[in-house]
Amino acid sequence: MKRENMIKVIGVSILAVIGIIVPAYAVSTISGTVTSGGTGLNNAKVTAEQIGGFLVAPEYVWTRTSTTGSYSLTVNDAGTVYQVAAMLTGKQYNKIDRTPPTSTANYALTSILLKDAIIWVVADDGFQADHPSWQIDAKNIAYAFADGWFREEHSINMKDSGATYGTYASPNSAPDCTTWAQNARTALDWSSTNNRGAKIAIVVAGKDVTFTNGDLGCINPAIPSSSGTYPLIVVKDGYGDPAKLSMHEIGHAYSLTHSTASWKHVMWASVNNVDAIKNWRPADDSTIELNRSWYQ
Ligand SMILES: [Zn+2]
Repeated sequence: MKRENMIKVIGVSILAVIGIIVPAYAVSTISGTVTSGGTGLNNAKVTAEQIGGFLVAPEYVWTRTSTTGSYSLTVNDAGTVYQVAAMLTGKQYNKIDRTPPTSTANYALTSILLKDAIIWVVADDGFQADHPSWQIDAKNIAYAFADGWFREEHSINMKDSGATYGTYASPNSAPDCTTWAQNARTALDWSSTNNRGAKIAIVVAGKDVTFTNGDLGCINPAIPSSSGTYPLIVVKDGYGDPAKLSMHEIGHAYSLTHSTASWKHVMWASVNNVDAIKNWRPADDSTIELNRSWYQ
């Protein structure tokens, strides 16, 4: 046996022992009901995010109710605060703090109107050359793949402006995405007064575009703190989870800054972590709720 194989065998043995001694008492349940107008919401989504110990390991679990609006979540830390949120398209997002094992959380969600986020889609020349159905593919990467999360959690409806999709003969390299985005903004003449009926422009950059610093996307001119800024977002083609990428960049458009708490958050600065969850942390959810009418 080679030495490296010996090490692997020993490693497996140690892991097996650790597996046996994980304490079972730490597992707790948070359960309750989600209703609206007294009726159980069978399709509501319920998430629990750990707040105590957040800097180390933000636990995240979610469930979808099956009968009469009831739900049950299994969480691993009985001594810490969880922010438990209930949500459904067309209902007001709501969250309650609970510390298991005192863990019942019942929700009566109120109905709200969807808010549109009206988007103008642009694709650069490299993307168009790569994609025979470039309009459909660009729309999907720009926002359609991410739309479900905005819709379900915050009743935001990503909507096409109806304008002809923009095209951009782009430079194939730039030091960073922000520089490339500023050039795109100028070349496309995208502004508050030339907005094609949209409130956000999203430019999909082809695989031939390289940002020296490794950027996958960005927002220009900066993360807004108010409505009416007509941001231009860039997302690169070729990233394995385009929904997560546009959730991140459109999240910036709703004033979200980068999470420094954990790489598992979608707003972590480096979005290309395969294990990151498609979910905003509770503080970010509150910010999106405040700003959800910015781009209608
Ligand atoms: Zn970012």
